[in-house]
Amino acid sequence: MIELDGSQGEGGGQILRSALALAMVTQTPFRIRNIRAGRSKPGLLRQHLVAVQAAAEVCSARTSPLALGASELEFYPGRVRGGAYQWAIGSAGSAVLVLQTVLPALLFADAPSQLCISGGTHNGMAPPLEFLQQAFLPRLAEMGAQVQAHASRYGFYPAGGGVLHADIQPCSQLAPREWLEPGPRVQGWAEAICAALPLTIAERELETLRKGMNWQPQQLHARSLSQEEGPGNILLLTLQHANTTEVFSALGEKQLSSEQVAQKVLQDARRWCISQAAVSEYLADQLMLPLALAGGGAFSCDMVSAHSKTNAEVISRFLPVQFSFTPDDKRYLCQVFPA
Ligand code: AMP
Repeated sequence: MIELDGSQGEGGGQILRSALALAMVTQTPFRIRNIRAGRSKPGLLRQHLVAVQAAAEVCSARTSPLALGASELEFYPGRVRGGAYQWAIGSAGSAVLVLQTVLPALLFADAPSQLCISGGTHNGMAPPLEFLQQAFLPRLAEMGAQVQAHASRYGFYPAGGGVLHADIQPCSQLAPREWLEPGPRVQGWAEAICAALPLTIAERELETLRKGMNWQPQQLHARSLSQEEGPGNILLLTLQHANTTEVFSALGEKQLSSEQVAQKVLQDARRWCISQAAVSEYLADQLMLPLALAGGGAFSCDMVSAHSKTNAEVISRFLPVQFSFTPDDKRYLCQVFPA
């Protein structure tokens, strides 16, 4: 039984999600206390509760009694089974993060899986759908994982109501990979999406990005979604390089002007470009678990976040791997190797 403290390091939901994923893959039970103690609303929110329920269903786990707001959990995994699963978060909690919780185990399952997860597809503190599709899943594909994901309906914070679908093909193992250089830029584009909000918001965001990136109008796309999918607005800037793709994003907020939303995206994108790293802060913490399952690998990243440091500690509790983060000019080198 592995004992975890959810208040350690960055103290958020990732400690729980990584523990669930690794418990399922390694068939190791764990107990976690102080779940999300570092957050303003600690304990299990709807997204985390559904992540636990989804993980438990996929591997017929035995758990301690589950409740919203709970700060402790015991999880005893059983055999992982691929198949068709449907989960409803019932809020704008991230459907992408629920998918990432069960994905590692389903990659090694006995059969393909088809998931349908309703909830948020675009909410501030989680990977948006496009990041999953353009940045995360293609890197997993290079490790041998065949996963397709799309949304039949978008769900923005705070209304939610999105529907995420994923098809997962099992693979016998993940192959170690290295992403050290981004390689030359292949293309860059930006998309601003508005649902039940005036398209002028998107146009102003894109105009700020155009000036900041010195881009041509054909690299900018304003998109209106149906009224029912809103209200919501997201700005996404995608930089596709020969070796990796990054998606920088910011959600429109009432208190922020369109120009401020665009400046947030520009700031993150510029930091990454200047660093000449292959991987951004967010992709870094998300690639660590697949690389650990592969038994090794490396990437360069523009910063080492509290999420990455905490994830390294949680992963090393379940798997015989070690992580090192070494400064390398304007970036960091993250290496995963057998302990
Ligand atoms: P936590 O805060 O512990 O629930 O973890 C949040 C997760 O969402 C981390 O894996 C982050 O890398 C990821 N994340 C947060 N914001 C973004 C973003 N804008 N783009 C991509 N991933 C994100």
